[in-house]
Amino acid sequence: MNKLASVTALREQFLAGTTTPTAAVEAALALIAAEDADVHAFLDVYADDARAAAVVATAAYAQGGDVPPLCGIPVAIKNNILIKGKRATAGSKMLAQYIASYDATVIERLRAAGAIFIGATNMDEFAMGGSTENSAFGVTRNPLARTRVPGGSSGGSAAAVAMGAVPVAIGTDTGGSIRQPASYCGLVGYKPTYGAVSRSGLIAMGSSLDQAGPLTHTVTDAKLVHTIMAGRDPLDATSHDLPVTGYTAGESLTFGIPRAFLKDGIDPDVMAHFEAHCAALKAAGHTIVDIALPLFEQGLAAYYIVMPAEVSSNLARYDGMRYGLSVPGDDLLAVYEQTRAQGFGPEVKRRILLGTYVLSSGYYDAYYKKAELVRQKMREELAQVFCSVDIILTPTAPTPAFRLGEQADPLSMYRQDIFTVPVNLTGIPALSFPMGEVTRGDDVLPVGVQYSAPLGADTRLLDIGMYVYDHRLAA
Ligand code: GLN
Repeated sequence: MNKLASVTALREQFLAGTTTPTAAVEAALALIAAEDADVHAFLDVYADDARAAAVVATAAYAQGGDVPPLCGIPVAIKNNILIKGKRATAGSKMLAQYIASYDATVIERLRAAGAIFIGATNMDEFAMGGSTENSAFGVTRNPLARTRVPGGSSGGSAAAVAMGAVPVAIGTDTGGSIRQPASYCGLVGYKPTYGAVSRSGLIAMGSSLDQAGPLTHTVTDAKLVHTIMAGRDPLDATSHDLPVTGYTAGESLTFGIPRAFLKDGIDPDVMAHFEAHCAALKAAGHTIVDIALPLFEQGLAAYYIVMPAEVSSNLARYDGMRYGLSVPGDDLLAVYEQTRAQGFGPEVKRRILLGTYVLSSGYYDAYYKKAELVRQKMREELAQVFCSVDIILTPTAPTPAFRLGEQADPLSMYRQDIFTVPVNLTGIPALSFPMGEVTRGDDVLPVGVQYSAPLGADTRLLDIGMYVYDHRLAA
């Protein structure tokens, strides 16, 4: 079965005429037909639309001239991103039949760049989770080890790329949902600076945390796709343009390691790869220093207060009146109660309850306000650290992909987010890419390293990622 190469390689083949968008779309559909009954990366496949778009794209290359950068490239989209006329389920029974009435800004921009949408990918319900086991439509399997999870919540997007159906998929990241599945599936995953990408048309989870970003095979591809999606959008007041400051290969960098943060609960094989990665950077002439980020250890606790608070207010709109599911009842209250009881799964309910609790009078000061204060202090702590280091290095996740059903206790699942959530709380950009593989029985499992950079330093971070990963300095 023909797996699709990187975006850049496929584009070169289109330009050289060695393959066509029609052939690429047929390869994607054939792979999905062969593999997806087992993997279940996709909730919907847009075969007819994709074939029609491929005919137009194939003609554009045949004609020559200026062909837009993603022309004919098959892309998979997490199903919490609106595509006009398509289902946007967010992995929930609540929105199982909900049809989007407009395109998200990221979709508009990808479409304008010529991307072909192959299908919608599975996800944890409303992006809550780290394994894609919380989807109302069944689990997704890790294409590299089928008894294991692909990570989450953008697990379907990661699986779609890892199985070779598409060279790029779009995910969203509220606390690690692009980076952690990238780590589990051997991919590049990128969470931009908060506000770098418009959230218009994204089904909100935590509005002060959510960002959309790419999952790809190379950092070059991630940069290309991110650059197309990024930039100020009048439909999202928090969006803005970022300065473009790059990195020139050869410039010596300082990497900071928050040693105290890397102690408990990290798989020893993950740690061994991390140490080897640091050693390779050092051997290439870069400086590795220990840094102290004491407040980062509070990140997980602060996240699991701030995020549910935002979840509880964002999900109040699913009342049986305005969107999606509506379960009839004797009176209005009964409609609300029954719609929400039947429409939401257990993890979503847990977070709504927790969020409502921390926002209620009497507890607001004790929990929500304190968590926001920790968040502010974390930002200050970071600004200080970034005066002397270029990049903060950690593993992306403490373990490789776990088995389906293995993390039944929600708290142990939450601990997978320890390195990723501080990034969303502080708004900084972070990139995950593979740093090695570990063996568990018959399974060979990739593990990722996370590079975090100062607010707005997205171009520089991506350039550094290209230098280290795409050019195989250390991986
Ligand atoms: N695993 C995290 C959570 O469950 C992250 C989710 C996300 O980034 N959407 O909240």
